[in-house]
Amino acid sequence: MSNIYRDIDVSTHERVVYCQNDEAGLKAWIAIHNTKKGPALGGCRMWNYETEEEALFDVLRLSEGMTYKAALSHLPLGGGKAVIWADSRTDKTDVLFEAMGEFVNIFDGGYISGEDVGTRLEDMQVMARVTEYAGSLKGSGDPSPMTAYGVLKGIEASVQYKLGRKNLQGIKVAIQGVGAVGRHLAHLLFVEGCEIYVADIIDDNVRTVVRRCNATVVEHADIHKVDCDVFVPCALGGIINDETVDELNCSIVAGSANNQLLDQRHGVMLHKNGILYAPDYVINAGGLANIYCEVSGVYSEERARELTLKIAESLINIYKKAAISGRPTNIVADEMAKEIING
Ligand code: NAD
Repeated sequence: MSNIYRDIDVSTHERVVYCQNDEAGLKAWIAIHNTKKGPALGGCRMWNYETEEEALFDVLRLSEGMTYKAALSHLPLGGGKAVIWADSRTDKTDVLFEAMGEFVNIFDGGYISGEDVGTRLEDMQVMARVTEYAGSLKGSGDPSPMTAYGVLKGIEASVQYKLGRKNLQGIKVAIQGVGAVGRHLAHLLFVEGCEIYVADIIDDNVRTVVRRCNATVVEHADIHKVDCDVFVPCALGGIINDETVDELNCSIVAGSANNQLLDQRHGVMLHKNGILYAPDYVINAGGLANIYCEVSGVYSEERARELTLKIAESLINIYKKAAISGRPTNIVADEMAKEIING
């Protein structure tokens, strides 16, 4: 197979590579943001972007977020990410994921891949035929349940901090996206006694959650407007933007989606509007902890849970620092992460 790749010069990142294999129908980008603390670990997204620019923008932001996530989780890992420009419903082939695995090898272990939106464990298994740097295959498995568990703990901490409530009984949550993480999270929240509202662009995903969690369905264009305690973004990035930020009707934004803020200034706007924002890369770090437990030795779910439980403490730290200095939580979290990376 003819793999073609070229480096793209991006001053904020250590290395960004565009990857192409025409026979496999593969166009992808791998971005290594920072490896000061260890190899860059981050999932491989498959998404049908509108343009090349959009794909590149996504991989750059996602990989930077992974650096901060690893730093604030105090894990010896760096930040990286891959995106494949294709439709996960129609374009998946073994040849494509084998070609992707070969591109992962370019980094000689400096980048370790994993699942993300649009990719699944089976895809990692195909990549693993050609690379030893495909994560989740040596015991840790699907990271989504651990991510959901971490988000649950983060929501509990945020609700206690902002609303002074010791448990989630009767707390109203609006979940955007009930795929791998959102579905698990909905069930955990249901068990804790939350009143649940959901939206997804895939009807089947919604139906499953409605059945299991007695959830109320909302149009996907309106889910962020629901009058609730916690808005829980579990779909794609950029949901907090110029159009949506003033339409939110919640006290807290806390979910698994990466890059929830389209821009940092949207975190400032949330702060001004009195909405507590749980920085995404802090609250969604359970999946990273899960894979870390595999790549650093023999996988143990108990250890992964222990690491994931620290999310609550990290968030409270950020909230307190932000309150003392009167600044938005996203800005404070970025600063704390940069201190750890450069310290
Ligand atoms: P997924 O693809 O399984 O689920 C995403 C869901 O969102 C899908 O059901 C999709 O139909 C839905 N969706 C997409 N656009 C939507 C919209 N506009 N409105 C409503 N629903 C929409 O992905 P996932 O693994 O559950 O991940 C969800 C988010 O959490 C992503 O941003 C991902 O990067 C992030 N995340 C996931 C993990 C993990 O362990 N899987 C870890 C950290 C962060």
